[in-house]
Amino acid sequence: MNDGVIRRTLTWLLGSRDKPFEYTHHAVLLIGSIVYFYCAAANYLFNLASMPNILLQLGLCPIILGLWYLSRWRDYFKSMAIVFMLLVTLISLPFNWIGNGGYDESTYFMNLGVLIYISVAFRDLGFYRRLGQALAIFMPVPLILIENSYPDLIFKHPTTELLQLDLTISFIVTGFFLMLMMENHSKRYKLERDKANALSIQLQTLSEQDPLTGLNNRRVLETYLDQWDAQGKTFSLALIDLDHFKSINDQWGHNYGDVVLCEFANALRRIANLYAGHAIRLGGEEFVLLLPTDLTKSQEYLQQLANNFASVKLENGLTTFSAGIAQKQDKEEYQALLKRADDLMYEAKRAGRNCIKL
Ligand code: GH3
Ligand code: MG
Ligand code: MG
Repeated sequence: MNDGVIRRTLTWLLGSRDKPFEYTHHAVLLIGSIVYFYCAAANYLFNLASMPNILLQLGLCPIILGLWYLSRWRDYFKSMAIVFMLLVTLISLPFNWIGNGGYDESTYFMNLGVLIYISVAFRDLGFYRRLGQALAIFMPVPLILIENSYPDLIFKHPTTELLQLDLTISFIVTGFFLMLMMENHSKRYKLERDKANALSIQLQTLSEQDPLTGLNNRRVLETYLDQWDAQGKTFSLALIDLDHFKSINDQWGHNYGDVVLCEFANALRRIANLYAGHAIRLGGEEFVLLLPTDLTKSQEYLQQLANNFASVKLENGLTTFSAGIAQKQDKEEYQALLKRADDLMYEAKRAGRNCIKL
């Protein structure tokens, strides 16, 4: 059998893996039904339990299969999970106690198995989860009282060897069952964690990205500055403002203005990539270029940016920019650096625009 067939069969039997809660529960129902049949057969063949208990186990197989059918194919998922929980805690476990050795047999660890099953699979079922947990934990109390008052009611194994055999088989079955539960639980946990991580990365990208140009926004600027500062890098910050941008909007419309902004952002991104820098849109028609270089080199790269941008062909033409470059000084605060670059940029504006000031 190839993988595809197995996966399709499992999906048919258990439902989608994307719903691990339902997937696990359907697996438990099917395995439970098989286990009851197996227990009934083993108990009968080796004389390990009383006849009423064997008949009950046999009767539970089709009932549990019915629950699986209603849950998997008739959309009664939640109610069938609850019915199954009540069936196991109120009927199956007490009968197992009475018909299968009482306090010195396997019911104690079956109770533990059921407790773990309810804790994991009923995670989202609030009240019913607590009810199931309480039933699984406290059921032995009335049972041991009954056993004390009516010892003859309890089926005891005829020999120690049979008791040992029954305990061992029951332990192995419970062990496998718990192993499956826990593995499915960790898969579910991993699935949820992966989804949460993907969502948080998406949110972070959204919150750090300018939607028009796709450049990083000002939120990231401080992070970059801190990183470079911590590395002791020499670096410069260029503050860039497009010239007479308002008149582009006024003349050619806001949409055309947006196209010009995107073209400039592309040119800026290319220079940043070329010289291991960072391109950021501060807002409006203002940008920052961080370069890991001193003033002289940074000016050279900014001049290259001006030339590249000037050579872009657009139907209604472009505009120029004015920029101020400040090199990061020792122990200089982020705001102070930005202010120096801003002052220099205004100096460039006053000097007639389309120029770079250091
Ligand atoms: P200066 O040379 O002195 O910088 O003149 P300016 O016209 O570029 O500066 P001003 O601050 O007067 O105008 C900036 C304009 O940028 C005004 C605003 O409508 C426009 N703007 C801001 N954000 C956007 C945007 O996302 N898209 C478009 N199309 N225009 C924008
Ligand atoms: Mg401006
Ligand atoms: Mg401007």
